[in-house]
Amino acid sequence: MSATTAELSSVMGLPVHLMDDYPRWLRSRLEQEIGTHVVTLNAEMTMQAETNAALAQIINQADLVIPDGAGIVLYLRLQGKQIQRYPGIELAESLLQSVGQLDKPCSVFFFGGAPGVAAAAATVWQQRIPSLQIVGTQHGYLSPTAAAQLQQTLKQLQPQLIFVGLGVPRQEFWIAEHRLIVPQATWIGVGGSFDIWAGVKTRAPAWLADNHLEWLYRLYQEPWRWRRMLALPKFAAKALVNR
Ligand code: UDP
Repeated sequence: MSATTAELSSVMGLPVHLMDDYPRWLRSRLEQEIGTHVVTLNAEMTMQAETNAALAQIINQADLVIPDGAGIVLYLRLQGKQIQRYPGIELAESLLQSVGQLDKPCSVFFFGGAPGVAAAAATVWQQRIPSLQIVGTQHGYLSPTAAAQLQQTLKQLQPQLIFVGLGVPRQEFWIAEHRLIVPQATWIGVGGSFDIWAGVKTRAPAWLADNHLEWLYRLYQEPWRWRRMLALPKFAAKALVNR
């Protein structure tokens, strides 16, 4: 566990690092060029890891695991921890807003989403922060040839901050398999964040998120997720039993 400044908690055998200021810790890693894999843990991912040992191993080996989902926060509160939720998209946004203030310029790469989405998200960020160095984007539906080409591109560009939005667990496997192509980079699996930044989807209103109901909004926006979301009541039942 490299998040030495963090308190390490456990959710069903998976690590969660609790610290006051995740972006500051990550900026320091970026400055020191220490390769970092960030996992943004939620209840769905936790339940997937219960039956997927390879995913569990990747989460256990990640350098930073943040409490992304309401379920994780409620689970840890049941264990007596005073913690706040930190959505992965907000961590990604905070980093984009602040990497320009680092002593060394920090280059960024967006990988994932439907064709055009990562590029649109990059345009939005570039307009918000003209000094941001987004050195490349790539959609997430690649042929084997295009996937090999992407590896070459990353090898050449050596971006320092790489967001991978392929959904869980695809993005976690992809990062674990490829992170040594750019060993000093910070890699974060950002799920559907490119869709939000590009305006293809919207985030739940704050009042729903504040009441731990972001999942309900996602179900309304993406009803086909219902099967995946059956993991949530299972997670809640386990959380109560484990308490
Ligand atoms: N996606 C992708 N390639 C794939 C499958 C999915 O790039 O082969 C993208 C998809 O377009 C979407 C994101 O992965 O932008 C998944 O978003 P979701 O919100 O479902 O992520 P999760 O809830 O799994 O974190």
